Amino acid sequence: MLFTTSWDDGYKLDLRLADLLDQYGCKGTFYVCPRKQHGNEMMTSEEVTQLRERHEIGAHTLRHPKLTEVSTVDAKTEIEESKAWVEQVTGAPCSMFCYPYGFYNDEIVQIVRDAGYKGARTTERLEFTTKDPFVMPTTLHVTPFPRRKTWSRWWHPLDPYGPLRVRRRILKQLGVAPKFQKSWLDLAIHLFDLGKETNQSVFHLWGHSHEIEKYGMWEDLEKFLAHVQKSNVECVVNSKAI
Ligand SMILES: [Zn+2]
Repeated sequence: MLFTTSWDDGYKLDLRLADLLDQYGCKGTFYVCPRKQHGNEMMTSEEVTQLRERHEIGAHTLRHPKLTEVSTVDAKTEIEESKAWVEQVTGAPCSMFCYPYGFYNDEIVQIVRDAGYKGARTTERLEFTTKDPFVMPTTLHVTPFPRRKTWSRWWHPLDPYGPLRVRRRILKQLGVAPKFQKSWLDLAIHLFDLGKETNQSVFHLWGHSHEIEKYGMWEDLEKFLAHVQKSNVECVVNSKAI
């Protein structure tokens, strides 16, 4: 099994993530977008260039739209011009793309293929296999589990265990016992060990540095990366895991 990680949007806090990955011998693909999001400070072009020396930089559009909700012309512009922008900033080829908010359809996938990328990451979760490099799924999101931490437009206020509820069926299918669903760290370690024991192809961890900060998940993430390091699994960037 390979281990890969990816981090979206290009926040300044991604530099802390990169340092943490380096500390545990892990690799990451950072999908950067020049547009400021959630009021957070973003990396400068110089910081993105320096990050490219240690990790992979992928494109994530220029304005972060839901690509299935804009015109085909606009989607094409976003997909092609963000690749050119990353290549201009890093001085290196940009081979990976990530769909903002995980929104894609057959037409968008085709535009990404035609633009010359090698693959594209979605926000599909609890998967260990990439069947189509342009619909690359993930295994685990770094986000509060099993209980949400704050009000969010994604969850009903009376549904604090929404994150667990929507994943319960697939976790059962994967054979994850309830005792491993009590915290994000328990689930992360168990899923990783399960993937390794059953010879899965890849474990893909992903998230947003600003959420890790907002939800106080740095310590859990570090403990998980320490566990990965001990397991002697090869850590690669996304383009090497498709
Ligand atoms: Zn994003």
